[in-house]
Amino acid sequence: MKKRIALMGMHLEANAFAPVSTEVDFRSAGYYAGEEITNDLAQANPRTAAELSGFVAEMNDRGADWQPVPILITGSEPGGPVDHAFFERTMAEMRSRLEKALPLDGVFFSAHGAMTSTESTDPDGALLEMVRDVVGLDTPLIATLDLHANISNRMVAKADILVSYITNPHVDQRERAAEAANLMMEMFDGMKPEAVFIRVPMVSPPVTLLSARGPYADLINYGQESKNDAIANVSLLAGFAYGNTPENGLAVIVTGRNNRAAAEVLAQKIARRAWDSRERFTISLTSIPDAVAQAKACGEETGYPPVIMADCADNPGGGGRGNTPHLLRALVAANVQGCYAGIFYDKALAAEAHELGVGNHFSAVLNRTSENEFSERFEFDAEVAGLHDGVCVGTLGIYAGRTVDLGPSAHLKVGGVDLIVVSRRKQCGDAEFFRMFGLKIEDARSVLVKSRGHFRAGFLPWFPPEQVIEVDAPGLTSNVFSNFTFDGYQRPIYPLEKDMDWQVPTG
Ligand SMILES: [Zn+2]
Repeated sequence: MKKRIALMGMHLEANAFAPVSTEVDFRSAGYYAGEEITNDLAQANPRTAAELSGFVAEMNDRGADWQPVPILITGSEPGGPVDHAFFERTMAEMRSRLEKALPLDGVFFSAHGAMTSTESTDPDGALLEMVRDVVGLDTPLIATLDLHANISNRMVAKADILVSYITNPHVDQRERAAEAANLMMEMFDGMKPEAVFIRVPMVSPPVTLLSARGPYADLINYGQESKNDAIANVSLLAGFAYGNTPENGLAVIVTGRNNRAAAEVLAQKIARRAWDSRERFTISLTSIPDAVAQAKACGEETGYPPVIMADCADNPGGGGRGNTPHLLRALVAANVQGCYAGIFYDKALAAEAHELGVGNHFSAVLNRTSENEFSERFEFDAEVAGLHDGVCVGTLGIYAGRTVDLGPSAHLKVGGVDLIVVSRRKQCGDAEFFRMFGLKIEDARSVLVKSRGHFRAGFLPWFPPEQVIEVDAPGLTSNVFSNFTFDGYQRPIYPLEKDMDWQVPTG
């Protein structure tokens, strides 16, 4: 019998301090229902979440006798909480499509897992609960999650298995979806997953959560190395601090294969390790003047290896608006040469450049209308050096092989700075965003990226970790926690209560 497996999902990493994510944000980033999903997945470079194509490819590669049943997938660039009315409508459409698709043998759900709405801190749990309600207790429901997910008890209870990424920058979406596919096949053969969830009361600044090295890498590696036949999956989700929810914390989810005891023992071991290493999750950022001095030196002295400056506090990948001027303004004022800066989100400025045409000089204004205190107005003389429709295919890292649409985009020459302005808010995670204007990344003496960490994968061949500068600028995704009032967490929580004690729950 062909297994009918529903494909669906909804992605939002919600920053409590950012403007509300609206229906327009989701629809412009991608909203696919039914056949639209199948059609997208048939493209060489799909636009939908990489998990879907990863799941489908694995099922097909394994020769599974199955039929994909496309339901609905949508997602927005990280932003503020989703407008609750839109969330409810989306969930209702998912429910109705699921009900019409019955009978189903399984559900693959692709989520980010740090969604909040204007009325709820746990929409992800509500979605999984809705799916469970429609398909019943005996139908496998497996969800994939970003490791920046905040986990509710309801999410763990309603899904059979939660599979989180294990890489940051995230480059294993397809592998984790393939893992989900294999686990679902095991469940078809009778495997009974037993999930154990422990929330460790610690929130960590995003820059401390890399998977190549550091405290989080050590924990993830320990979890993966500890897997054995009794363990189906180990997911270790550090969460998303700016979610500001009661679900925040470092989530340890270990799923046993027909074996709860083994999962419990391992979950407790990992939770204890995480708590014991809490003091290692510390930041060391560079001030704007020091970053500018380094960029200036690189521009003047070609013998120096070039540097890449991460504007961590204005990361669209964490809800930042991608338009704060603080670092750019300082680079221009210091007359830094050979600097690439991107990608700045300003629809009006990109449109003006398109109207003027290549070769024209003008008095440019970044943020002529501002939506928050950090998106300050910045005026500068510029030349339109290049124009593009903004559609490209990612080459490395999180966007590799995917079609990305930045909207009408412009390359502006601002003194020694080559500035890229786009019409769709997006994290600068791929050198293609410069290359599409003929700017060779190997020619840059310094690069300013609106990104916290995913640029590391996209720019790695030219900028190994020792050439990365994490800059401390103002913004919605500042890694300096004292810049925020976190009033949504369950307290106490580390490091807000620095001297708190905590014991791993047993039994
Ligand atoms: Zn993430």
